Amino acid sequence: MKKKISLLLSVIMLFSACLMPANADDITANHNDSISRLFSDKPEFCLYCGELHSGFGGSFIRFFHDIGYFFCGIAGRYPDGGRMWFSYDTVDAGADEPFYFIHAGDTHVGFIDERDYGDERLVETAKRRESDWPAALRVLDDLSFKAKELNALIVHTGDLIDFVSQRNLDLAKDFTRKNDVFACAGNHEYHVYIWDDGDDIARRESVEDKVQASFKNDIRFSVRVEHGVKFIAVDNSFHNIEQWQLEKFREEIADGMPVILALHVPVYAPDIFEFQMKKLDYPHPAWLMAIPEEVMRENNYEDTWIEEQKANDATNEFYDLIVSSQNIKAIVVGHDHAHFVSQVTPTLKQYMVATDEGQIFAVR
Ligand SMILES: [Zn+2]
Ligand SMILES: [Zn+2]
Repeated sequence: MKKKISLLLSVIMLFSACLMPANADDITANHNDSISRLFSDKPEFCLYCGELHSGFGGSFIRFFHDIGYFFCGIAGRYPDGGRMWFSYDTVDAGADEPFYFIHAGDTHVGFIDERDYGDERLVETAKRRESDWPAALRVLDDLSFKAKELNALIVHTGDLIDFVSQRNLDLAKDFTRKNDVFACAGNHEYHVYIWDDGDDIARRESVEDKVQASFKNDIRFSVRVEHGVKFIAVDNSFHNIEQWQLEKFREEIADGMPVILALHVPVYAPDIFEFQMKKLDYPHPAWLMAIPEEVMRENNYEDTWIEEQKANDATNEFYDLIVSSQNIKAIVVGHDHAHFVSQVTPTLKQYMVATDEGQIFAVR
């Protein structure tokens, strides 16, 4: 009986939502708003299948997909092969007992609401970015679902939000409070108006406190121990780390405990450098930390790229510690939005996660 009533209520909710006019100016999106997008005539990514449905036929497909998405929300489960996919790997770290963690990154939640409508540049930023990341909330839903299913810690390697807005900070806070999340910062955690600013430390400092309030652990440097394995999160999102981070890292690895290192920007290794350099068909740099300067020059790096990516002393020392410490068992990274497993040393792998991917690790 209860089931019938809830089904009836769902159908009533669905059709009353269908009758509501969509506000074309509303640039916020939320998985609960998906029904209101039915009357929008612009192409939008489908939250159900991740495809772009445009035109009259597209609206028709989207209508049915939105209904599917709506009921998936009620059931708390989305179809496999949708926006989020999961890869599986094992880390032999010498854990007290085996456990799972899920690595995700670059979710880029990118919305604003009326609290930020007064800031025209931010409204413009959100308009430019909303179509890039329409499924971000669904990815977070999928992640939460999988983490609960496996009773797994979520290790998020940054860019959880796309830019700093009230709504994005609320959504990040909601995600980190409802789930067990251990995170490091990505460059987008400190982005206000995207593309208008590079690795700007003053800008980071201007938003750092309010961004940090949306996370449970310190996203610039944190340590957490799970079953005898130490997770260390270090913010290297501006391609470099600072001396205080190096000192803390050195202290943390000195006890010899097995370590899984979470960073936003991957560390340099020849395989991942080659992968990134071949990625696009126009000149671009690789997006890595501690690339040797001679490697940059050999690969026709523009001076501005060298300027941005050149490693400072702390970063070079950090890199040397990573490759020489036998107790670092795995590195998890993001930033490039692609899946790649890099061999940093013969015994150390670095796992780069795609933006719609969850990497499920069994740690033994
Ligand atoms: Zn990103
Ligand atoms: Zn990034």
